[in-house]
Amino acid sequence: MNKIVQVTSLKKSYKDVHAVKGLDFYVEEGKLFAFLGPNGAGKSTTIDMICTYLRPDSGKILLDGSEVGKNDDEIRRKIGIVFQDSVLDPILTVRENVTIRGSMYGLHGKELKEAVENACEVVGMTDFMKRPYGKLSGGQRRRVDIARALVNTPKILFLDEPTTGLDPQTRVNVWNTISDLQKQNNMTIFLTTHYMEEASDADYVVVIDDGKIAAKGTPAQLKEKYAGNYLYIVPKNKDSLLNTLKKNKITYKQNIDTISIPIVHTVDSLEILDKVRENIDSFEVIKGTMDDAFIGITGKEIRR
Ligand code: ADP
Repeated sequence: MNKIVQVTSLKKSYKDVHAVKGLDFYVEEGKLFAFLGPNGAGKSTTIDMICTYLRPDSGKILLDGSEVGKNDDEIRRKIGIVFQDSVLDPILTVRENVTIRGSMYGLHGKELKEAVENACEVVGMTDFMKRPYGKLSGGQRRRVDIARALVNTPKILFLDEPTTGLDPQTRVNVWNTISDLQKQNNMTIFLTTHYMEEASDADYVVVIDDGKIAAKGTPAQLKEKYAGNYLYIVPKNKDSLLNTLKKNKITYKQNIDTISIPIVHTVDSLEILDKVRENIDSFEVIKGTMDDAFIGITGKEIRR
């Protein structure tokens, strides 16, 4: 396992605002990494430091073996960035926009042409190369933004809320493009998102709050630890079931035709089910979602 990004004791203040208060985490190569946190948590500040746009007050960042602050040109060649707001020229065509970016990396001639075509092919935009960027739909534009970031074949792609503002169907399309990139091209994706269903596709998640790490783990680990779960039982005889629950001091809630029992771990349901076995018509265990986990971790809703 190669750690493509390694962040150690990272700190940054803006005058008296302590935006990042000492972060330690790493990103494994080839993985989809989600970096989450409520507004103002310090995500952009951290990403700007990793991408060499902002100087840390202290701490160390290694990107593919190069240290930020010492070898920034090399780091910039290894990364691609898709910003929340597009930076492309609406009047120029898709090809022109991506070509300009490629030439900034010193590519020219046949090599440049091929790099532009490859980048557009990866995001499924080859049929739109001659269209002005400004005439494309929101989802198509987003895919071109990603192509622009891919033209220098980066080792790691930073995506800052890549699907925000897109309609649900377009979001799914753009999301599939991102997910394919990671799986088929083994690209490392460093993602921030407000959509928890996207974060639940990540290989690993770091949640920050108030400039510090609030939680880290796989989506399954975070859901298990912070989201809580519910055991739903359809009773054969409701009164008798409730009596047993009361006798055993088990907290429950009555719904129209089910009884729900909050449990911490899914396996906790086994002991309860055993106690009321005679009275179960049917049951299911519903796991908490990433949305629940996020609220459990930060006490805040993620969406603005
Ligand atoms: P996020 O990306 O998670 O929303 P930011 O990194 O943008 O968080 O912000 C972290 C904190 O730093 C916030 O309190 C924000 O107001 C503050 N901050 C961010 N950028 C600046 C800046 N350029 N000058 C002063 N304060 C800033």
